[in-house]
Amino acid sequence: MAKQLLESQLQKATARIAGLVTESLVDGPGIRSTLFFQGCTHFCDGCHNPATWDEKGGTELTLAVILARLQMNPLISGVTFSGGEPFCQAEAAALLGKQLRAAGLNLWVYTGYYFEELLAACGKPGVKELLMVTDVLVDGPFVKVNQRDNLVFRGSSNQRLIRVAESITQNRIIQWEPAAQESLFS
Ligand code: SF4
Repeated sequence: MAKQLLESQLQKATARIAGLVTESLVDGPGIRSTLFFQGCTHFCDGCHNPATWDEKGGTELTLAVILARLQMNPLISGVTFSGGEPFCQAEAAALLGKQLRAAGLNLWVYTGYYFEELLAACGKPGVKELLMVTDVLVDGPFVKVNQRDNLVFRGSSNQRLIRVAESITQNRIIQWEPAAQESLFS
């Protein structure tokens, strides 16, 4: 019964997306699918993807269709939510993230908000739920003067790669590092 309810929810609920790729090596470790959400309210100077800003742009798809496409590539170890701003569609993103995690995939989420802002916004629909299913949060807006070429998986040095669960448990920011046991490509 619960499974039928979930399937019906995934068939009915939608997200507005800017695009989706099923093989990415640049949005987190390993081979990943990446979902680009449509709509962003940060308007960062130097944004590489301003076509994603308009919340009425892009394409609206059911979560069931998005999930199927994100899992098409059998070689992926994880999925990345990018944008646009995933937290502008937090409820849909959380539902997607929950299914992806249940399928054994890790989840990275790029956001223009800082982690502390999201923790303070946990009362808003879907925000806490999305954080709870996020393995690594790449936080903060793109800041042009902080742009560096040598940064791993982020565009400007103000952004952080935050291990969400560990940071919440230890009540301090724990950053993701490509350790010897965690190759960028495995
Ligand atoms: S948060 Fe990302 S998508 Fe939004 S304006 Fe900034 S760089 Fe562009």
